[in-house]
Amino acid sequence: MAGAFWCLVEDDRQGNPKKVMAEVLGEAGRLAAQVGGQAEAVWLTDKATEAGLTQLAEWGAKRIVLAENAAFAPYRGEVWTPVLAELVQKESPQAVFGAVTTRQREVMARLAARLGAGISADSMALAVEDGKLVATRPVYAGKLLSKVSWVKTPWLATLRPNVFRPADPQAGAAANVEKAAVTLPGAAMSLVERREESATGLPELAEAEIVVSGGRGLKGPENFVILESLAKVIGAAVGASRAAVDAGWRPHRFQIGQTGRTISPKLYLGFGISGAIQHLAGMRTSKVICAINKDPEAPIFKIADYGIVGDLFEVAPLLEKEFKKLLEK
Ligand SMILES: Cc1cc2nc3c(=O)[nH]c(=O)nc-3n(C[C@H](O)[C@H](O)[C@H](O)COP(=O)(O)OP(=O)(O)OC[C@H]3O[C@@H](n4cnc5c(N)ncnc54)[C@H](O)[C@@H]3O)c2cc1C
Repeated sequence: MAGAFWCLVEDDRQGNPKKVMAEVLGEAGRLAAQVGGQAEAVWLTDKATEAGLTQLAEWGAKRIVLAENAAFAPYRGEVWTPVLAELVQKESPQAVFGAVTTRQREVMARLAARLGAGISADSMALAVEDGKLVATRPVYAGKLLSKVSWVKTPWLATLRPNVFRPADPQAGAAANVEKAAVTLPGAAMSLVERREESATGLPELAEAEIVVSGGRGLKGPENFVILESLAKVIGAAVGASRAAVDAGWRPHRFQIGQTGRTISPKLYLGFGISGAIQHLAGMRTSKVICAINKDPEAPIFKIADYGIVGDLFEVAPLLEKEFKKLLEK
């Protein structure tokens, strides 16, 4: 439908949409209003919940296309892509938005290839100009920003978390929920059934408002407890540089940078990280950057808003103590 801005739902696998959906739906609603359209949610899940559907409506989804099937969990690109492509071909939405999360960045790219549609990956700003969508996205590892537009619909884009203004929740809002009849592809491969979730008790890296990140300066995996302890006090996620990940100190899902995660928290605290361009590519859009490094010439100080030249093993516990005092007041 012309004017339908579809937002692919990212959920927590327990039937609840993640907080990034407030941002994606909020932006979709603002843009759709400019072309006389509306934000709509498309939810592929093995189990939707009433609370989840309500949440989507309160974040601005006027209509929810719900495809519920056990085959959608755990996520598999080869199952999701044809289903989404079929829905798009059937309904011709004007835009399809996803969030920059591990699965959505993959499925959106697959969808674009399947449909032969243009995609703006990792969008940092979106606007409607002369009735057309225009996206701003980083190129050359974030050194430059480029503006792109589409020659035809659907306009596909993934939106970077923590960049777009979340929707103001409308308590009591209701959406039209439509169950989609979809054709599931035949099994092309068997599933590995074992799945392990390691609970850190800390927020998810890409969505966290504060990120504490450690690099080679940590000197070993055992020292990440210093950062975890600080992170617990301020409600932060813990990330790492590639040097720390390559050394086997942290799993790859915690890597920030060009070949890792892209983050845009309100506050980024980097400990013992030099500030290589590939690391900056993943965190340079953080609102406030604070670097702690014993080398005053470390490149990270060039982009930092605040810098502490010192030994992280002294600075991190001190910061933790001071934050505790502040938060207890
Ligand atoms: C194709 C490609 C892709 C890449 N992708 C990524 C990526 O996604 N993410 C990424 O991070 N890197 C990436 N890299 C690697 C990148 O170039 C750097 O090698 C890496 O970021 C360095 O990590 P680091 O800052 O932890 O280590 P280093 O550069 O070794 O810096 C360690 C810092 O710790 C400081 N330090 C040491 N001890 C202390 C102390 N006690 N207290 C305070 N400070 C201390 C040092 O002064 C130094 O500045 C990529 C490289 C390539 C070629």
